[in-house]
Amino acid sequence: MSDCIFCKIIDGEIPSSKVYEDEHVYAFLDISQVTKGHTLVIPKTHKKDLHELTPEIAANLFSVVPKIANAIRDTYSLKGVNLLNNNGEFAGQSVFHYHLHILPRHGEEDGFK
Ligand code: 5GP
Ligand code: ZN
Repeated sequence: MSDCIFCKIIDGEIPSSKVYEDEHVYAFLDISQVTKGHTLVIPKTHKKDLHELTPEIAANLFSVVPKIANAIRDTYSLKGVNLLNNNGEFAGQSVFHYHLHILPRHGEEDGFK
């Protein structure tokens, strides 16, 4: 989709810090790190939110989330991790290309509990 910033990130038109990539999925560091290692996981096919995901796209995406989370855990020796997904502007979605936030939790240093 031509005016989608995440499609531009997948195409390399907008630079990003890659965390993981395969045929179907791209993961990269969020530009505004809520916690250190804050990562977004997106399907390479443009779907605006959860309601547009097909079972196949959802399966391809979620099947690699544990692998990505484990890599982040090993890099940062995590105390925990939150998965977050906002759908619709009233739920706080600001970029309308489906994305799953992986939020590493480092304990006290996160500044919130
Ligand atoms: P949402 O609010 O839609 O759940 O999350 C969108 C996320 O995309 C935000 O956390 C925001 O910081 C991130 N974001 C927006 N634009 C860019 C960008 O150009 N590059 C990267 N890496 N992250 C972005
Ligand atoms: Zn897109």
